[in-house]
Amino acid sequence: MDKKDIKSMNLGELKKDMEELGEKAFRATQVYEWIHVKLVQSFDEMTNISEKLKEKLREKYNFTTLEIVDKQVSAQDGTAKYLFRLQDGNLIESVLMKYKHGNSVCISSQAGCRMGCKFCASTIAGLKRNLFPSEMLEQIYRIQRESGERVSNVVVMGTGEPFDNYDNLIRFLKLLTDEKGLHISARNITVSTCGIVPKIREFAEENMQVTLAISLHAPNNEKRKRMMPIANKYSIEELLDACRYFFEKTGRRITFEYSLADGVNDSEQDAAELISLVKGMNCHVNLIPINPVEELEFEGSAKKVAEKFKNKLEKSRINVTIRREMGRDIDGACGQLRRKFDGAVREEGTKEC
Ligand code: SAH
Repeated sequence: MDKKDIKSMNLGELKKDMEELGEKAFRATQVYEWIHVKLVQSFDEMTNISEKLKEKLREKYNFTTLEIVDKQVSAQDGTAKYLFRLQDGNLIESVLMKYKHGNSVCISSQAGCRMGCKFCASTIAGLKRNLFPSEMLEQIYRIQRESGERVSNVVVMGTGEPFDNYDNLIRFLKLLTDEKGLHISARNITVSTCGIVPKIREFAEENMQVTLAISLHAPNNEKRKRMMPIANKYSIEELLDACRYFFEKTGRRITFEYSLADGVNDSEQDAAELISLVKGMNCHVNLIPINPVEELEFEGSAKKVAEKFKNKLEKSRINVTIRREMGRDIDGACGQLRRKFDGAVREEGTKEC
């Protein structure tokens, strides 16, 4: 029988298991605390657990850890990009960003991605597999432990489409916000989606105080289809309806991400169309000049063009910012570090990726 994934289990489930093992329920609380508060890397480190129980735990459970394959630190702003190897050999990446208001970790939700956005490095080699809740948590735990920096904010904006791994995402969010765990406030968590409409509605029903970020990137369906295959499945109108529903249910302001691609979606006409789309919505628009990816066709807009776009939105009283670029000197765009490594490893022929 496959071993259970202990780091993906909630306290209630662990208590039930402890009972079955003939142990007292408080043992579950201790173990849970070792995993989710003290962030240990193995059963060995659980000093108040007897050797006999540890042996039972090792037999019954897998203890998810990540191997650090590479770490790049930006000389400009201290942003640290981690390349992790999962226990089955797949690679993922996570980023630690240091802001004045606290440290933020950007995590991956899948190894690879099948959404096919035309400007994104993470999707080039397709989807390998979904990440388990434990593997999403461990990106944060490991970085907090390794860097010695307390993580206060989490963004699910790394490789993968979180709503394509919905159940694991929800379990991960519940564990991460659990007051008996690391207890990160839901308000300090952002989940970013390319716009899987039914899942946005389902997520609204969860009634979590998480921020939802929508990768909009285009002011109309025609242009969006050129950038994102998901636009063939759901129209912008359906997407915005789901966003309004999310706001109604949760009271949380939506963030729209809009990656500016030179000559594609950055004209004055595009800005005007975007304004009429989002006007009246309780939202924030985050402009991100496209980070060019070698194999892909899109180029980022010039700074001046981005500024002009922003000014136009501001004049219509839309909340808008241009995202500060962090760690440009360290393979900035999503998935680029992983991709570089994947390629290098494959060329050496040492590992099948
Ligand atoms: N799948 C999710 C989250 C991962 S991508 C989503 O689509 O939202 C996180 C954000 O980075 C998305 O807005 C995505 O569209 C954007 N992105 C991906 N590649 C980029 C690039 N090369 N330049 C700028 N933004 C990019």
